[in-house]
Amino acid sequence: MQKLWEYLFNEDTGRGTALTTLIYRSSFQKTYNFVKHSQYWSLEQIKKYQWQQLISLLNHAYEHVPYYKKLFKTQGITPDNIKTLHDFQQLPFLTKEIVQKYSNELKAINYPTYNFEETSTGGSTGYLLRFSIEKGVWFAKHLAYMTILLERAGCHAMDKSVQIIGREKPWEYRPLSRTLVLSSYHMTDQNLPIYVKKIKRLQPQYFIGYPSAITMLATYMQHHSMELKKLKAIFCFGENIYDWQREFLEKFFKCRVHDQYGHREQCILAGTCEKSNSYHIFPDYGLVELIDRNGQQVTKEDESGEIVATGFHTGIFPFIRYKTEDIATYTTHRCECGRNYPVFKTIGGRVQDFMVSKTKRLVPLMGVLQLIAKSSPNMKEYQLYQDHEGEIILHIVKKEGYSDDDVRHIRENFKTRLGNEFSLSIIYMDSIPLTSRGKYQFLIQKLPIHYSL
Ligand SMILES: [Zn+2]
Repeated sequence: MQKLWEYLFNEDTGRGTALTTLIYRSSFQKTYNFVKHSQYWSLEQIKKYQWQQLISLLNHAYEHVPYYKKLFKTQGITPDNIKTLHDFQQLPFLTKEIVQKYSNELKAINYPTYNFEETSTGGSTGYLLRFSIEKGVWFAKHLAYMTILLERAGCHAMDKSVQIIGREKPWEYRPLSRTLVLSSYHMTDQNLPIYVKKIKRLQPQYFIGYPSAITMLATYMQHHSMELKKLKAIFCFGENIYDWQREFLEKFFKCRVHDQYGHREQCILAGTCEKSNSYHIFPDYGLVELIDRNGQQVTKEDESGEIVATGFHTGIFPFIRYKTEDIATYTTHRCECGRNYPVFKTIGGRVQDFMVSKTKRLVPLMGVLQLIAKSSPNMKEYQLYQDHEGEIILHIVKKEGYSDDDVRHIRENFKTRLGNEFSLSIIYMDSIPLTSRGKYQFLIQKLPIHYSL
């Protein structure tokens, strides 16, 4: 296990000195052992542990993080006043705008400078959100959780694997971890046959990557009647996976598709399990709340809300009650796998993944995508675009065989589902550009979405 970790760490970051490797390795081992051992804890044990973590994070933030010191002062309280979960839930949310504005004041002053690694993610309205993570340690912990998720599907990190993600190089083989890394940017008709050839030569045991990119590969293989030796599993991350993608991938590759959800801010990590496709939230990773459009806790079965999370591993740059702008569905259901983890039934995309109707109603993208996908088998790629209320533009890259019948089906289905609240125009394109991270975006939403206050 330790060897494995060193391989992955050095391959991914290329910066392992003897001492840092030792420190990071112990971070990995500690996290891995803890999660492995705590995964079948009782609900009481989980609650107790989370509360301890929460209080220690709040105390730390109050003592060492200028932004929070000031926030507590403004509220007229200290962490000692927080005695219940309800007290905690009175603290203001941390929004992406605040993170952007106060990124210096959010840094803990009791960490040495060399521990800070600056990082960024895309904000929903197109800006880059910059913040700090704990150098090396975040990666070690991340690997520990990934290893646990792989094991749920009977896989091991040292199994031969194919990774399909946003990378500059079209392909790269990493011999130590036996991983073929393929870039989602370069999945052209020219490169795809080369991708398949390389995959066949490797005989991987699992795939890991963006669902859109794996689906594109599988569609190409199906079209050309190509097959692979049976995989153990497919792991998706980085984008929402839609039901039609999961069904298609499971049928085509004849294995289970696992999904995970998390971000670089490290406040929440969730994954599907051996038994179900619901998202099991790691309770030792952070405390997760689901908030409705009025800022209240969601407590009704099947109701959706925005994920608000507090990351227990974020001491260096604490995220406390952080509004992720992602939407999930509430359930009290506990999975039959035996873990007492809190569960989301679905994670249904980002706050931005809504279309705005003429009457300013928010319509989730999820069902509409499925509808469009089913309307025509002759689209190679498609993407929705909105910059005016009630007006949707559908970008389509045609396949051979695309005809007026396809246009008619798309328009009819769109109209049946959405009535007169939207108009639809179609624009044909040669290709659809990926995001700067190499992901596929099904909707470019240029309008501001006011999901909650
Ligand atoms: Zn389960």
